[in-house]
Amino acid sequence: MTIVSAAVDRPAAAPAHGAIRHDWSRPEIRALFELPFPELMFLAQSLHRSYFDPTEVQISTLLSIKTGGCPEDCAYCPQSAHYETGVKAEKLMSLDAVLTEARAARAAGASRFCMGAAWREPKERDLDKVCAMVEGVRALGLETCVTLGMLTAEQTARLKTAGLDYYNHNLDTSPEFYGEIISTRTYQERLDTLGHVRDAGINVCCGGIVGMGEAREDRVGMIAALANLPVHPESVPINMLVKVEGTPLSGGSQLDPLEFVRTIAVARITMPQSVVRLSAGREDMSEETQALCFLAGANSIFYGPKLLTTPNPGRDRDMQLLDKLGMQPMR
Ligand code: SF4
Repeated sequence: MTIVSAAVDRPAAAPAHGAIRHDWSRPEIRALFELPFPELMFLAQSLHRSYFDPTEVQISTLLSIKTGGCPEDCAYCPQSAHYETGVKAEKLMSLDAVLTEARAARAAGASRFCMGAAWREPKERDLDKVCAMVEGVRALGLETCVTLGMLTAEQTARLKTAGLDYYNHNLDTSPEFYGEIISTRTYQERLDTLGHVRDAGINVCCGGIVGMGEAREDRVGMIAALANLPVHPESVPINMLVKVEGTPLSGGSQLDPLEFVRTIAVARITMPQSVVRLSAGREDMSEETQALCFLAGANSIFYGPKLLTTPNPGRDRDMQLLDKLGMQPMR
């Protein structure tokens, strides 16, 4: 498609025809962030329409299959054992209980069922159980996604054999800011896990979190890291920090919602073929901000009253919003 030339010069880097690039420089991405808002939205919306129906939103449901007691120290996370947040450590859910939740998610219109476990990495016996969950959920006709922490190549191959469709492993933020947020695993370890997932032929779900006190330059760096992966993640969740009492990030200042919208738009422009998920943080977001995120190219949401341990808008509220906007779940 041809994009009508705009009143303000578009950065030379902007892929006018939706070309897929993996060589984004930081100045190019910074220039996108700095575009006048109408230009940024126009560019994002134009590219969005090259690859997707702008009225459709992919719906995923996320279930915490193993909650709390995580040995990692991610500063935003209420499930870390390092912080007193009131989240109790629980055992891995039973297969039956997971399948009951998956059936309910399917009945409520979800097309993908995501399962999260608060582990540094899965133990072998736990991985057997998760593989059985993947097989069971797939047999219900749902796409499957799991997030289990770091994986070896061998573990990734086992998940692939079980039929796993997506693996979620976020880069979280820029390489420079990362050390402020997590000390118990390195950026490179995250990239290694993502490499194993990609090599095994499993779709990659990888994004980050904004509003953690990072500078815009860190949001630039996060998008650069994602957009310059050898293959773009099929799914890119962009989360707004949910501040949870007891975590080190509970007292920080709130990110301007328009900066969040800009981050979504720049993710859409730099990774035009990826599904961009408006992820955590929607509970405190106005309908207007969410609508702007959809205009900026977000085309996926988590559905259901809880995101692991933090609140999420109820299903009725989401359906009412999509109805108001004339949008519908992606088939
Ligand atoms: S984000 Fe994941 S790895 Fe980090 S503390 Fe929370 S559950 Fe553990």
